[in-house]
Amino acid sequence: MSSATTPILIGGSIAIDNIKTPTAEGKNLLGGSASFTGIAASYFTSPVHLVGIIGKDFPQEHLDHFASKGISTGGLEKSEGNTFSWTGSYHENMNDRDTLDVAINVLEDWTPKVPAEMASAPVVVLANMHPINQLQMIAQLTAEKPFIAADTMDLWITIANDDLHEVLKKIDLLVINESEARDFCRTPNLISAGKILLDKGPANVVIKLGEFGAILFHREESGTAPSEFSIPGLPGISIFRSAAFPLTEVADPTGAGDSFLGALAGHLASTGKASYSFDDLRQAIVYGSVVASYTCEAFSTNRLAGTSREEIEQRLGLLKNLTHWPA
Ligand code: AMP
Repeated sequence: MSSATTPILIGGSIAIDNIKTPTAEGKNLLGGSASFTGIAASYFTSPVHLVGIIGKDFPQEHLDHFASKGISTGGLEKSEGNTFSWTGSYHENMNDRDTLDVAINVLEDWTPKVPAEMASAPVVVLANMHPINQLQMIAQLTAEKPFIAADTMDLWITIANDDLHEVLKKIDLLVINESEARDFCRTPNLISAGKILLDKGPANVVIKLGEFGAILFHREESGTAPSEFSIPGLPGISIFRSAAFPLTEVADPTGAGDSFLGALAGHLASTGKASYSFDDLRQAIVYGSVVASYTCEAFSTNRLAGTSREEIEQRLGLLKNLTHWPA
């Protein structure tokens, strides 16, 4: 299956990761929210434009790796400092993790610069980075009505809450982890959290549930949700629940959320549409779930980068079988 030709612009971190799991360890790995998001998106559409910053220590092989996936790196600023680096350690459940070290390095004083030829992309992904950097990217976009999807993390909810609220007013889709959604919305109930997040601005919210999948909340423009996707207590909102693809072994889930977002946005871009329906978004989060599963199967982008569109379609078909039942 060939990929579509709708430009997608992705901003976020480009990192060197050090990762420890209960059974293995990986050092000096390619990481960063934009890296995973970009590679995942590359299976669906092109050109994929990355905006980020790397240091003088960033290995050429990783730039070659991006190029081999057809990703354009003209928006990656090269600085004299060292590349952002993240060190994390996973608990036995391979879901919870501790951040052991963060070396901000070149991200410290970074202001993203979107090259003119990338600024008009109709689909924009603000992968995990400081909300101020997300706002700086939004300010440079030139498309009349780009579709903007954004990710965030617990750190920004804590230290940049007001900036994050500003971002939410300007985007079309927020993707967030379940624990972050509960914290951010100060509720233990995830369905209530989805509604609270929609009320903060975006018309679409996806709450990720790790190995259990994801929930999509979509505010219907008409104010009325179709009865087959509407639940009591959420008037005007359609919801959809995607399962995760079941894996017998998880080697390293780092970047699974970013890959989910990249595939989701890449699929939306590939439709070539000017706006996306609830059905488009449902299809997109299932692609996100499938592509995220590849990321979990090996360290860094090793498995993600080795898949193909054909393989993704096969896994998608299998996931459909596994989550449907006879009437
Ligand atoms: P995920 O597992 O999807 O949450 O993404 C993990 C990736 O996010 C890792 O490759 C890290 O390099 C990157 N990351 C971790 N902390 C930050 C941060 N504070 N800002 C931007 N990216 C980060």
